[in-house]
Amino acid sequence: MTAEVVELLRTLIRNACVNDGSIGSGHEVRSADALEAYLAGSGLAIERYSAAPGRVSLLTRIEGPDRRAPTLLLLGHTDVVPAESGRWRHDPFAADVEDGLVWGRGAIDMLNLTATMAVACRRLAADGFRPAGTLIFAAVADEEAAGTHGVAHLLDHHADAIRADYVITEAGGVPVPSREGPLLPLTVGEKGVSWRRLTVRGTAGHGALPFGADNALVTAAVVVQRLAAYRSPARILDVWRRTVEALDLHPLITAALTDPDRVLDAATWLHSPGLARVVHACTHTTLSPNVVRGGTNVNVIPDRVVIEVDVRTLPGVTAADVDAMLTDALGDLADRVEISAPDFGEGSMSPTETPLHDALTRTVTALVPGSRLVPQLAPGATDARHFRWRGIPAYGFGLHSARIPYTEYPLMFHGDNERIDVESLRLSCLLWERLARDFLA
Ligand SMILES: [Zn+2]
Repeated sequence: MTAEVVELLRTLIRNACVNDGSIGSGHEVRSADALEAYLAGSGLAIERYSAAPGRVSLLTRIEGPDRRAPTLLLLGHTDVVPAESGRWRHDPFAADVEDGLVWGRGAIDMLNLTATMAVACRRLAADGFRPAGTLIFAAVADEEAAGTHGVAHLLDHHADAIRADYVITEAGGVPVPSREGPLLPLTVGEKGVSWRRLTVRGTAGHGALPFGADNALVTAAVVVQRLAAYRSPARILDVWRRTVEALDLHPLITAALTDPDRVLDAATWLHSPGLARVVHACTHTTLSPNVVRGGTNVNVIPDRVVIEVDVRTLPGVTAADVDAMLTDALGDLADRVEISAPDFGEGSMSPTETPLHDALTRTVTALVPGSRLVPQLAPGATDARHFRWRGIPAYGFGLHSARIPYTEYPLMFHGDNERIDVESLRLSCLLWERLARDFLA
């Protein structure tokens, strides 16, 4: 089983389905073909859905007869973000295996899980698994952009094919040590994505006459400073409280991390810039000015500069709330700036009181004795949100060994030197297989 997952993962990495956000990128058809070839001969029928040339998503299912039994969708994506090979210790698309690690773009996000889901389905089918409910495996395109040519296309145009009662996709399950045994984070919700375009106006003029000029770039520089300095009020969500309380930290630290007035101070006590960022992101709606465009010639004072801001909202924060925060951040410059909203996707949460959560708990504690599931909010976005918006519980999970530390794991998403250990692949594969047997029996 382990060798099979490793080989399939290496194939998916080498296929290099790099999604740069343009419709002509991705080429996920390569990995749809590879998965179809891998599943051939197992008796599983393959469904292929194409949203645009090359943007192919693959589905397969083991259908049960009981209409009252649940349908579980194991949702993987086959696209990856670009990789800058000069900064990697191994070629990001060579899929080198060394010392029990598979290296490459997508090894964590999320070709590892996609490969383990495929292998588990093939094994279940080969074993003649006959559930009461239905198991669906989907390997979709375009997760790394908005899902337009992947999951959103399926939900809008092939709703019957992808209809499910529960969904599991990336990411979670990297053990966090605690006094009472390993904690396994289960992603139950994620922040919203709300991109804003700020247009700063000025008055054009000659670059040789700058005194007292109304230079849009100079105003934009102040705007960027204010956005960076802005702190939205902290909000302690129930899911954050549950995450922190499960960590068994010193009671004073737990109290501070769950107090909106002290949470940012407490974040610095952790002595880890990575963890401090997570603490901040899980308790605040964040603004990050990331793109600026403006100016034409070096001798012309610009009259227009555009700033693009990545706003990530806590669940419950609306588009109107975001506009109010931006106006607040801009202060007396607000009337110099025109705000447009190319995109708004609300944050999303799933309940933890579900039969799937119970089945996961049973399966996971059998595989990793002494472990506990702990709910978490993800700062980034995944395809799970499309299901949560439709009221379908969706979790992010996988089962990992302790080989890759939980402090390093989040940095590998879209980062350099992405890699996964072979034991984690084996564990996730076993998880899907046993979960299906428990939950869909
Ligand atoms: Zn991903």
